[in-house]
Amino acid sequence: MFKKILIANRGEIALRIQRACREMGIQSVVVYSEADRDAKYVKLADEAVCIGPAPSAQSYLHMPAIISAAEVTDAEAIHPGYGFLSENADFAERVEQSGFTFIGPTPESIRVMGDKVSAKQAMIKSGVPCVPGSEGALPDDPKEIIRIARTVGYPVIIKAAGGGGGRGMRVVHTEAALIHAVQTTKAEAGAAFGNPEVYMEKFLEHPRHVEIQILADTHKNAVWLGERDCSMQRRHQKIIEEAPAPGINRRVIEKVGERCAAACKKIGYRGAGTFEFLYENGEFYFIEMNTRVQVEHPVTEMTSGIDIVQMQIRVAAGEKLPFTQRQIEMRGHAIECRINAEDPVKFIPSPGRITTWHAPGGPGVRVDSHVYTNYFVPPNYDSMIGKIIVHGDTREQALARMRTALSETVVEGINTNIPLHRELMVDAKFIEGGTDIHYLESWMAARKR
Ligand code: ADP
Repeated sequence: MFKKILIANRGEIALRIQRACREMGIQSVVVYSEADRDAKYVKLADEAVCIGPAPSAQSYLHMPAIISAAEVTDAEAIHPGYGFLSENADFAERVEQSGFTFIGPTPESIRVMGDKVSAKQAMIKSGVPCVPGSEGALPDDPKEIIRIARTVGYPVIIKAAGGGGGRGMRVVHTEAALIHAVQTTKAEAGAAFGNPEVYMEKFLEHPRHVEIQILADTHKNAVWLGERDCSMQRRHQKIIEEAPAPGINRRVIEKVGERCAAACKKIGYRGAGTFEFLYENGEFYFIEMNTRVQVEHPVTEMTSGIDIVQMQIRVAAGEKLPFTQRQIEMRGHAIECRINAEDPVKFIPSPGRITTWHAPGGPGVRVDSHVYTNYFVPPNYDSMIGKIIVHGDTREQALARMRTALSETVVEGINTNIPLHRELMVDAKFIEGGTDIHYLESWMAARKR
């Protein structure tokens, strides 16, 4: 096992990884920007290295600074967390070429999965069901694009091969709007992701977002740890996640889960990963794979009892997964609310000094957050300041626990989306379960009137 790991991230996930290391008796090095000097995990760290000023490009995205930090502290492995460099194949490559272990899949896997066109092709080959659409990237010829759209059937969605974070997508309802939409998406994709390639998919009108968590080792073992329903989204950003997905036939999910695990073996995947699907009318359609730990991993940890971050570290150190698929037992129901520093109605970011932070507690309640009373939320990064996760024997119990947890939570000095979560936890449709990916936005639109 590693003696020392460098954590190349910030915020709650840096603390989460630090906790996993502590439990395993591994020393951890945290890197931080000047804006994060006062973060809790920096103060608690075995070692901490300042890697640059607040802007991410000069700190958390600055590969040479991170690699030198690993060199000067004699770390053996680098955990990238999520976001930042976590899905950057060049970074993974540079980490390994510099003699460190990258806690994640191989650069090749990241590259294949990072390009949505090649990811989809790999999935089709592995027998994972995909959204019907263009076979690969769209050609330049407008006539050919029109022909493909007719075969797929309107509405269609044009997506950037290199897209991520809900950006680089455009829905097209009519043939008249098609070519312009393709050209605009291409131009935007080229500018934003350095790759102008786009592809086409059937636009599903009322899908749910259901994803499968997998773990794979370097000894040809791969398992899936159930699913998560992440349909509660605003602008393609998840805000509530739960496991299991309410009301979906277990046998249908098992079939998809087994396919995902089999695909991992086939592509030689290692580490943790997530297969994201849209689910509509009883069918699963693959949309993309995330080759890293996800924000919402705790709901799976709560239901499976498996520490996903520790498993990432074990697998990276060459260990075998300590369980087989048959030994994995999912229990109860878990729900996560992402707490964002933002206005609960207008969603304007609300960085600044937290004057009071009171976290909830009690049975089945977990809080993953790096903030504390007097902590200053820097304006430079994502607005998420933590996550409240609850577990119960049933979904009803989990909902009740989340309501209690939210009622106990006090955050003063900045605005948060906690009032929004409180409202959603008593919303009849959400309580019923199975809302689609547009539900939250239409709910908000109705609330405005
Ligand atoms: P990103 O990597 O940017 O998150 P995804 O491919 O995962 O992109 O898609 C993000 C979101 O966009 C999905 O969760 C869903 O809300 C919507 N979306 C993507 N593809 C489709 C589709 N074919 N039909 C309907 N909605 C889609």
